[in-house]
This record gives sequence, C-alpha cells and structure tokens, in this order.
Amino acid sequence: MKRVNFFILKFILLLFPYLLLSDGHIFVYHRFDDSRYPTTNISTSTLKREFDYLKKHNYKVVPLVDIVKKIQNREKVPDNWVAFTIDDGFKSFYTNGLPVFKRYGYPFTLFIAVKYTEENYRDYVTWRQLKEISKYGSVEFHSYGHGHFGRMSSEKIRADMDKGLSLMKKHLNYKPKLFVYPYGEYDSRVKKIIESYGFQAVFNQNMGAVNGVCSNIYDIDRSAVVGSNAKDFKLYLYFKELCGVTFQKPLKYPKDKIVKTVEVTLNDKSIESADIFISNHGWHRVKVNNGKIVYHANKRVNRERIKIGVKVKNRIKLMVLSK
Ligand SMILES: [Zn+2]
Repeated sequence: MKRVNFFILKFILLLFPYLLLSDGHIFVYHRFDDSRYPTTNISTSTLKREFDYLKKHNYKVVPLVDIVKKIQNREKVPDNWVAFTIDDGFKSFYTNGLPVFKRYGYPFTLFIAVKYTEENYRDYVTWRQLKEISKYGSVEFHSYGHGHFGRMSSEKIRADMDKGLSLMKKHLNYKPKLFVYPYGEYDSRVKKIIESYGFQAVFNQNMGAVNGVCSNIYDIDRSAVVGSNAKDFKLYLYFKELCGVTFQKPLKYPKDKIVKTVEVTLNDKSIESADIFISNHGWHRVKVNNGKIVYHANKRVNRERIKIGVKVKNRIKLMVLSK
C-alpha cells in the first residue's frame, strides 16, 4: 500500500483511536528471525511488540476455528478478535516463533506444505517437531508441493492435494479442516477443485478484515504483515471488510500486462466515492455511480501476481490475479 494512504490513516487514528475496533483480523507470518529472507521475515522483537500492543488494548487472540465458526453461523466477528496463522512450516517458526507464542499463551494455526517436511528439507520443520507444535496450536494444510495451482492441470492439482492429505493422515493422524492456497493464488477453476475437498474454510493472502456476516468461507482474507509493512501492524487492525463487492473486470491476468478497465459493483448504492488499488500503482480515488465503478486505468503491471482492490474509507476488499 502506498505510504501516503497510511499517513492519512495514522492521522485519523491519532484523532479517533476508538476507530481501531473494526471487525476481526487474521494475520499471516512465514519466517521468524531469518534475515536471509527479509520480505517474508518478522523479527521476534517486532512480534513481541505486536503481542504487547494487543494485550494492552484488550484484543483477544482466538484460535482460527473460532472465526471460522462465526462465519459458518453468519455471525459478526467481535471487533477485538485477532487470529494468527503461519504458512509453509519453516523451521524458524519452531526455533524462534513458537517460544514467543508459548510465552504469551496465544493460539496459532500453522499451514504446512507437506513435501518439504516429508523430504526433510533443512529449512522446514520435521514431523516430530510438528507433533510438538500441535500441542500449542493447530496444524493445517497448504498443499503438498506448494505449486502454482493456476498453472497446473486439474489432475495435477488433485494429485498434489491427495498426496499431501494422505501424508498428514499417516504422520499426524489428522484430516485437515482448513486450507490455504499456495502463494495465495486462485481462480474460479482452482477454487472449484479445492471446494470439492470439503474443507471447513479456505484462506487467501489478501489484506483485509473478517466481518463474519458477509465473509466468504472459501475466500477469507488474511493480512501479511512482514518486511517493511511490519511497523504498520496497528493500521491493519483498523480495516473493516467491505461487504457486497463484485469484481467484474479484469477477471484474468492481462496478457499484455496492461490493466485497462477496472469494473466493480458495490451493493451499497449510497457510496459516492471509493479508492481502487492496482499492484505497482497504489490507490486511486474514483467516483461511484449507483453502486458501479468504472475506472479506465490503463496501468502497466509487472508482477507475476497482481492485486486489484477497492476501499471505501476504512472498508476494504482485494482480489488476486495471477499469470
Ligand atoms: Zn506458502
């Protein structure tokens, strides 16, 4: 997100700190105290600062399944609820992150890419460590080989899923209830395959919040607060989920790498202006006419996966398009 937006948010928060209470939030981490990979790392000193902040401001860190239950029941997620997730199963979570979670007594959910544990990759947790980890939090599923599902055939995706699930059954005697898309990438075809596995809930990696009543149980937002974003942790807590959003254009990654027109429909017809986000370009203020946004962007993008988002004040919803 562009710095200028956060600057405005910081200013607002200074004036109206009570606005901080806004929907539930799920955060995702990857590596802990592993400076080799700055974009997916968080230092445990930063993590402790975040945990202290939550304690001081009466946030309640809940198991992820508690948020899932609220969505299943179409109930509002309490404004002070926060859940933590950790993706991939890097060893640095076991070595550096877990002791902090234990000290604060905070629950967490670890989503593992099974292959790296099964094949004893040095940087990943072992099955024995996973058994220990599962005493303090839950261990759920993040595919077998962490492939780009959007580029894999449906058969290959199913084979990957089946292999990972059977290994979790074999080593942990557990049938996962929750799933996270590798790289946070998905499209309608991938979504359909994953839904056929009957998970209770599926998570993406789009910055946002979880309202509960309007959240999609197969597409739940999680914010990655890592790298240079880590210092803005508090600001992520300020977001609410923007309900009633339908992204209409573009629905596929543009072949010529130019996002021409962004079209979004909002259920709330009273909204008069919004901000549209396009990766590489930040936010752009647009008019909303009777719930309809048509933004002739013509923006060149260069990432393998791009995000398009819409924000109305502090209510936000993003989606991802991958090559
Ligand atoms: Zn991952």
